[in-house]
Amino acid sequence: MEALRLDSALRLIEQSGQAVEAEGEMSQAFVQSVIDALCSLSSRDSLTGLANRRSFAQAMERELDRVARMGDEALLLMVDIDHFKQVNDTHGHLVGDEVLRQLSQRLLECVRPMDTVARFGGEEFAVVLPNCSHTYGEVVAERIRRSVEEKPFHIKPGLSLDLTVSVGGAYAPQWIRSEAAIWTERADRQLYRAKREGRNGVCLEETFDTVVSIEEKELLYGALNLGGYEPVQTLSADGNGRTNHP
Ligand code: GH3
Ligand code: MG
Ligand code: MG
Repeated sequence: MEALRLDSALRLIEQSGQAVEAEGEMSQAFVQSVIDALCSLSSRDSLTGLANRRSFAQAMERELDRVARMGDEALLLMVDIDHFKQVNDTHGHLVGDEVLRQLSQRLLECVRPMDTVARFGGEEFAVVLPNCSHTYGEVVAERIRRSVEEKPFHIKPGLSLDLTVSVGGAYAPQWIRSEAAIWTERADRQLYRAKREGRNGVCLEETFDTVVSIEEKELLYGALNLGGYEPVQTLSADGNGRTNHP
């Protein structure tokens, strides 16, 4: 059998700072550790170490599935730094990069281990929170906003930056199979609302309570077990659940 060509893979892995098993004689453990390291590389954002768009999409699909099958409450938050372009323009791109890294850590500190925080693109972050009640959702979104506002970003001696973020969020509609693109768009709409209404604020879409009785749930489960039936509907509406902190 031809030897595996792992040079490029090993170079990439080394560059990312990850360690792999000692080579041995192409032992299974070594090959497995190379595969694991490549999986990690392809699912993380290289600047911040957060989940990248690809693995975030997987997390969203997982959640949408659970929401459709179990009626879980799942919240998607979009977080965008306010006036971030000014940071780059005034202090340079490297300082901007350091802000993105520090913000990533703060976001991780604001959420539970079961939540997935991702770099969604540029200076925009996304968080998917499974099993998240409406009360808890408001608390987390506000915690994120405050964690940025209340503590300056220390970049280097003599340079600290006061920044704010805007946060938008939407719950996945329970008991129906929705799509990641629609969910994202709804959360994005709330983020733009937070921007429009002055930034440094939280806007969560208000959803109608899904009134589904125990009997109805059993019916839905029963139908699902028989297969072939997709429970339909449950609508959400734009609401005014906004708090602004100028
Ligand atoms: P707003 O409050 O409306 O969000 O304004 P903003 O300036 O934050 O938004 P805008 O979209 O005008 O600018 C986003 C900036 O983010 C522009 C871009 O240079 C910067 N950016 C995107 N990705 C990176 C990155 O990886 N590193 C750095 N340093 N800057 C980035
Ligand atoms: Mg921005
Ligand atoms: Mg942006």
